[in-house]
Amino acid sequence: MISSIIEFAERWYPDVEVVSRSTEGPIHRYTYKEMGVRARKLASGLSTLGITAGDRVGTLAWNGYRHLELYYGVSGSGAVLHTVNPRLFAEQMAYVINHAGDQVIFTDLTFIPLLEGLKDKLSNIKHFVIMTDREHMPETSLKNVHCYEELLESGTENYQWPEFDENAPSSMCYTSGTTGNPKGVVYSHRSTLIHAMASSVPNGLNIGGLDSILLVVPQFHVNAWGVSYAALMNGCKLVLPGPAMDGKSIHELLDREKCTLSLAVPTIWMMLTGYLRESGKTLPYMKRVVIGGSAVPEAMIRSFEQDYDVKVIHAWGMTETSPLGTLNFLMPHLQELDYEAQMPTKIKQGKAIFGVDIRIVDDENKLLPHDGVAFGKLQARGHWVTSGYHGEESAIDAEGWFDTGDVATIDKDGYMMITDRTKDVIKSGGEWISSIELENVAVGHPSITEAAVIAIAHPKWDERPLLIAVKAGPIEKDELLDYMSKHIAKWQLPNDIMFVEELPHGATGKLNKLKLRDDYSDYKFPDA
Ligand code: ADP
Repeated sequence: MISSIIEFAERWYPDVEVVSRSTEGPIHRYTYKEMGVRARKLASGLSTLGITAGDRVGTLAWNGYRHLELYYGVSGSGAVLHTVNPRLFAEQMAYVINHAGDQVIFTDLTFIPLLEGLKDKLSNIKHFVIMTDREHMPETSLKNVHCYEELLESGTENYQWPEFDENAPSSMCYTSGTTGNPKGVVYSHRSTLIHAMASSVPNGLNIGGLDSILLVVPQFHVNAWGVSYAALMNGCKLVLPGPAMDGKSIHELLDREKCTLSLAVPTIWMMLTGYLRESGKTLPYMKRVVIGGSAVPEAMIRSFEQDYDVKVIHAWGMTETSPLGTLNFLMPHLQELDYEAQMPTKIKQGKAIFGVDIRIVDDENKLLPHDGVAFGKLQARGHWVTSGYHGEESAIDAEGWFDTGDVATIDKDGYMMITDRTKDVIKSGGEWISSIELENVAVGHPSITEAAVIAIAHPKWDERPLLIAVKAGPIEKDELLDYMSKHIAKWQLPNDIMFVEELPHGATGKLNKLKLRDDYSDYKFPDA
């Protein structure tokens, strides 16, 4: 039961702190003991909203202590926590709330205007609970509105956590819908607990009681990579940044709360390292940084490890895999190499952790060799890999393999490397060109901040790559092509380069290639 985690933290680590930057402004601090009491009050208060076992409860919230209480109060009571990504387009947000069948929405103050705009489309919602105290309750056109702190006061701390089937659903999260409508993934108490235990081990995120963790990865994104659970299991201090995710605010928390470990997508770390360079500040307490969600640029690994003495843990996963699938740590024979010789392995997505298995197969589902060269469809199976999507048929084959939609290689030491997503590779005259590889090479040039490569139809080659890039300094097309030709084969070079002010991003901060393909649907290469 997920409730066993909060019971454990409350009993054995009662004085360990949870520190949150609140939406109202000030820093909030309390202990696991206080959190345990409030989570029980919340769980008992839910019945006054008519919530019973199996009912879906939506949240629209930043990382904070009230959101954490919902993680335990809702799932612990037997209801299902649906963390809605507030960065979805309004239409998609209404779609996921309705599709999940949410009955109640808990919202941060930030998202009230958004909900007011959507309320006519949310026919199932019986109550809105605003995650604040009486003093900060706003005027709103939403109906059936409650104040979070008053709901807690109405509950009792003598509430007993119920015991039920470990396979019962505990939470759900929708994929960001980069292709069509978002799809719902449902996690169980069992899958969530096993995932959190497996992710804590040294070959995983290596979480221990000495850690103070800054959880930047949103609680609305795959249960904050499971760390909302793993931190309590290990008695770690947990720091939650609220809405402020700029470099300065993140550094302030890392420094003040002496954080040893933090987790986020590359975009966040780009902002932090930018701030560190400008301000001359350092990271004296940080030991490890977990980066995943999209490929970690080599320059970022170098910056953290060489400039700030922080070890990078590169991780791969997806909503469908809870999310952890592979993590990169170097085996002893690789540790012995010098830093430059380690780099080709460091940039890979890493090795599977116990509990999840991965394989690569060709179009006929034939196994491909682990030689670091052959690439094919990446499949995963295991205790925390989904068997299907909410309201849809099973998504796994007879042997339990789930097709991730990623294309990857696996080398002789078992290190997996994502070379692309199935729908993003450029199919040029029977050969595949990795869009990710071209992007990585392009951003290796100091005058390029960000780059995206998409396939454009070509009369001779079927498809050829178009590079769309954001400049950091003065640079011309030919200079960039010249630079890239030193790193990749000539036939892989983009046929053209466009410079833009910014690139479109989706709800989880990833490049939105669907939009780019749309924007450039009429584009034709000069030689076509
Ligand atoms: P969506 O599938 O909607 O983008 P997810 O957040 O579940 O939402 O994204 C999972 C995908 O993100 C993976 O299938 C993979 O393509 C990409 N991804 C995750 N981690 C990494 C990584 N470390 N390197 C490269 N790609 C990654």
